[in-house]
Amino acid sequence: MASNINAFEMAQRQFDGVADLLKLDPQVREILRWPLREYSFRIPVRMDDGTIKVFQGFRVQHNDARGPNKGGIRFHPAETLDTVRALATWMTWKCAVADIPLGGGKGGVICDPATLSVGEKERLCRGWVQQMWKNIGPRQDVPAPDVGTTPQMMGWMMDEYSRLSGEYTPGVITGKPLGGGGSLGRTEATGFGVIYTVREAMKHLGLDSSKCTASIQGFGNVAQYAAIGFIEFLKGKVVCVSCYDREDKTSYTYYKADGVDPRFLMSITDQYGSIDKAKAKAAGYTIEAGDAWLTKEVDVLIPAAIENQITAENVDKISSKVKIVAEGANGPVTPEADEVFKKRGIFDIPDFLCNAGGVTCSYFEGVQNDMNFYWTKEEVLEKLDTKMTQAFHGVLEMSQKEKVYMRDAAYMVAIARVVKAMELRGWI
Ligand code: NAD
Repeated sequence: MASNINAFEMAQRQFDGVADLLKLDPQVREILRWPLREYSFRIPVRMDDGTIKVFQGFRVQHNDARGPNKGGIRFHPAETLDTVRALATWMTWKCAVADIPLGGGKGGVICDPATLSVGEKERLCRGWVQQMWKNIGPRQDVPAPDVGTTPQMMGWMMDEYSRLSGEYTPGVITGKPLGGGGSLGRTEATGFGVIYTVREAMKHLGLDSSKCTASIQGFGNVAQYAAIGFIEFLKGKVVCVSCYDREDKTSYTYYKADGVDPRFLMSITDQYGSIDKAKAKAAGYTIEAGDAWLTKEVDVLIPAAIENQITAENVDKISSKVKIVAEGANGPVTPEADEVFKKRGIFDIPDFLCNAGGVTCSYFEGVQNDMNFYWTKEEVLEKLDTKMTQAFHGVLEMSQKEKVYMRDAAYMVAIARVVKAMELRGWI
């Protein structure tokens, strides 16, 4: 999210627009426009040099009508309560559109994890749990990794919660390492989930996936598995991927007319999703400008890097051949560009539907933790496919019934499900 936009105001505005379409009762709106609970707390941490540094922490629980709150914890220097509120609100809609029985939450700490030692990070993670443990848990609120936090940190947090509560409780947190209560398939889940929705969109539009091409922005976790899925499941061709080059401080597109090989590219990509330019060039890839991915004559565009990438300024560069935009990233398309998609009849799969595979797999992790019985990767991915396919069709049906665009339909499905749960529980 660009720092000059108040993310929470944006989340509220989006909600208001759909609340109008749904003709929601003003009292119901008043509940859903704001998080139900917000925690703001200080975390004293003993630093390696013996001094005490105090960090600001947050947890926001937007709505738990459909089940325990769910959402990541971000460690970021520019974290604010409003960002956390917005992200918690979006988690409510994402879990509802994916039809998993969870609500929406988000947490954060104002800090730069890159400046902390391993020991300081561990003490900060444990400190966060010491402040919040009475208000999180498998039946209350289940955090997960997000920007600046890692599976290892989730392991420490789970351990601290288990110590304080006096019993092993892996289901308090998801995104844990494999062997420490994590789920197989989590690495692939978001990117493969993107492709399951693309597959259904192609069927709906009558496209033969084996004749389709795609261009992908980014080459991190989501983009890598979206590329593999497009090629291996759909038998289509991915002509380029892109990434941010940390040495040159700019982004590049890696193009190959006869199709990229994602597994080879992964072997020359670092942990931050930056591809080795020299090795790619030696393997026959053409290295082009960072925004070249957007201009390719392909059937499918998959922005899977960061937010605000398709905007009023560059949307006209999209080829007339493009039929589907699958939003792997969060918020990659601005509202102005969205209007152009509508005019051009581009079929957009909105972010909180398209990339819901990650949170769906996190839900599966919690289920496996509860049972203390773990599925194979194939079982996880099969269940994921079923969930994503159902979610896609729920939104498509709403879009056809109400004659609205997919993004509005996704919001309508999500909000209607949360309102129904509130009604059933007698909240409204
Ligand atoms: P990541 O950090 O693994 O990868 C990000 C990729 O984007 C890297 O290859 C990076 O080089 C590239 N990138 C950054 N700036 C770029 C630019 N200007 N142009 C081109 N490439 C650029 O991140 P990720 O986990 O793959 O997440 C990508 C997006 O998907 C984010 O918006 C994230 O919030 C969203 N998302 C991720 C998950 C998940 O499970 N990982 C789930 C839901 C949503």
